[in-house]
Formats: sequence, C-alpha cells, structure tokens
Amino acid sequence: MRMPTSNLVTSEQPIPAPAARPGRLSRRDRPVTLYDLTLAELEERLAADGVPRYRARQLFHWAYRQLVDDYEAMTVLPKALRADLAVRLPLAPLTAVREVHTDDGETIKTLFRTLDGQHIETVLMFYPDRTTVCVSCQVGCAVGCRFCATGMLGLTRNLTAGEMVAQVVAAARRARAAGRTLTNIVLMGMGEPFQNYDATMRLVRILHEPAGMNFGARRITVSTSGLVPFIDRLASEPFQVKLAVSLHAPNDELRSSLVPLNRRYPVGELLAACRRYVERTGRRVTFEYVLIAGVNDSDATAEELARLLQGLLCHVNLIPLNPTPAAPFGRPRVERIDRFAAILRERGIAATVRYSRGVDIAAACGQLRAEHEAGMPA
Ligand code: SAH
Ligand code: SF4
Repeated sequence: MRMPTSNLVTSEQPIPAPAARPGRLSRRDRPVTLYDLTLAELEERLAADGVPRYRARQLFHWAYRQLVDDYEAMTVLPKALRADLAVRLPLAPLTAVREVHTDDGETIKTLFRTLDGQHIETVLMFYPDRTTVCVSCQVGCAVGCRFCATGMLGLTRNLTAGEMVAQVVAAARRARAAGRTLTNIVLMGMGEPFQNYDATMRLVRILHEPAGMNFGARRITVSTSGLVPFIDRLASEPFQVKLAVSLHAPNDELRSSLVPLNRRYPVGELLAACRRYVERTGRRVTFEYVLIAGVNDSDATAEELARLLQGLLCHVNLIPLNPTPAAPFGRPRVERIDRFAAILRERGIAATVRYSRGVDIAAACGQLRAEHEAGMPA
C-alpha cells in the first residue's frame, strides 16, 4: 500500500483513552455487533424479538448514513429499544487509541484496539478527486512476504466483518468531519483478504446495502498475494469488486524468494487465474509490483514482466519499496524506477509509479502498532 510516510509522524492528535481497558475476550465471547449484520439478518433478529422490520432500515440509515456512533443519538427509535440494542448489539467493536497525520492533513492513520486487546491500523487518504480508506483484514498475516512488516508478525487472528466495517465507518466519519465523502475502499492494510474471504465478502454486502452506506462494489479493491482458488471465487461473485494482485516478480524462482505462497500457487497458475478473471468479468486486473533494489528491478526483469503480461487487460502499479528494519532490502534509485516503468510502457504495458505514496500501508501499520506495543504513549 502506498502513502506518504516520510513526513508522517509530524503531527499527532491524541485521542482520550477509554476509561478501562477491556479484558481479553475469546472468539466465542466476542459479541456480535451491529456492524456484523446484513440488513436481512438484522431484520430477522429484530423480528424474533417482536420489533418491526422497518426498524432495521432505520438502524442502517442512522449507523451508515448519519454515521452516529451511539444508539442514544438515534432518537427516531423508542428509548427502550435503544437501551436494549446497546447491550445486545453493541456499536463499538473498535476503540481509537491513537491518530497520526501528515502535516498537510492528507493522510490520517488511526490505531484501533479491538475488544480482545489487539491493535490494528486504518489509513484514510485524501486526494483531490477521491477519498480512500485502507482497511486491515487480519491482525498480522500468515503469508510472510520477505519485505513486509506485517508478514514478519505472523498471524494472530482474522478480523470479523464487523471489525472491518467499523474501520470504514470510522473513516467515513473522519472524512465527513474534514468536509469530505469517502469514495473508495482498499483492502491493503494488515493481512491477506483471501485468507479471510467470508468476512471480506460480508463487508462488501453490508456496505453495499442501499438503505445504509450504499457503497458500490466497484469502488472496493481487494488486494491478494495470490491465492488462486479465491481469484476464481471472486470472479464468480455477483459483486463487481476490483482485484489487485501483488506480483512482485515475473518468474517462480524470484517470486518464491519474496512471496513464500508462490511455492503453492506459482506464477503460471496465478496468471492463468488472472486471465480467467478478466475473461469472466471483463474487468482489468491491477498488478502491484514492489520494486526492490538489486532484486527485481533490472532491465531484464522488466522485459520478462512485460512478456508475462502481454495481451492481458491489466495495469501495473510500481511501488518503490518502503524499507523495513526487519528485512535486508532497499529502495531502487529514481532512475532505475523510471527505467523499469519505461520498459514496461515501451512494450505496451500500462504502468504507474506510485512515487508520492511510496510506502506500503502494511509496513506503516506494523510500525505504528510496534511502537505502540513497545510502550509509546497512546
Ligand atoms: N496481503 C495483501 C494486501 C495487503 S499488503 C497483499 O499482499 O496484496 C498491500 C500491498 O502492500 C501489497 O502489494 C504488498 O506487497 C505491499 N507491501 C508490503 N510491504 C511493503 C513494503 N515494505 N514496501 C512497499 N510495499 C509493500
Ligand atoms: Fe501478508 Fe500482504 Fe504483507 Fe505479504 S504483503 S505478508 S500477503 S500483508
């Protein structure tokens, strides 16, 4: 994920700490929150308690349009129902514990604590023409890409759909406070969305609901390190979610050394799945390619990549590496990056260098989380 971090920790806005730190909850004890439910599920739950179904639409309106974070503010609901919902379907699966933003205020990172005491990050990015939130889908990640700070952490657990939706709602609220409207969601924070597929698709369904946020699936991008079966599964979904594939290398030897998952789903199979995806959906694939000095940035590698992608409806995002302390990799020089991009373009492959956002969200997320857990003030 790309965002400006060179000047990131420049201006901090502490968020008042909650009164008490919640105890650790097991998966079984983690409550279902309003953000976990589709409209139909909410209607059913309410109906089972004798509450009219239209209340569910009102709840979606207040939670996802008005963006209120407290049932008490939903004054259209009877007082008793509000009190009951606050206990049975809490509205706060996440607590913001720290916020960091760039000087220009265009990038805002929020560190959240989950009910079981995990820390995750969400990043909100303001652009002239759009407002994008980068959502985490797991605490850590099991894939273990060699250059990724999140990969170094290993996987603690999947986030629930409610925890993912809550990140989006908090970002929408934050954007609104800045006079902006959230327009895009990218699943490029911590974690591998295709290892938390059901929650990811549930997020799409919940946010798509017209009575609520009415967020078009085309404005949601899922980024994967290459779990082939789920690329096919995504292609068969009714929702037109955008696909980004983290490629990073045009051949198995190189890719396996960077993305261990490549041993299971090698480049040939991955590209075949991407071709099926394009054929089936008519949508282009975005390839993410983190450029690492002396590793995958040579002219010959660019030529090999161009050959690999020839004829495929795609776009390549070249992301200069954000070095992480845990890995011995560096970022190429600007001339090398430009040359790599030029070779792709000369061979007809659309490529964009993401200079301005030159840092991955995963590493950035890992950093803020690491700082926090090392005892930095929250
Ligand atoms: N797990 C998914 C999505 C989260 S990572 C995936 O791998 O696609 C989002 C993007 O950040 C991926 O393209 C990933 O390769 C990239 N990334 C991870 N670490 C990075 C780093 N140190 N510098 C630049 N990009 C990085
Ligand atoms: Fe996981 Fe993506 Fe990081 Fe790889 S790059 S370790 S898949 S979060």
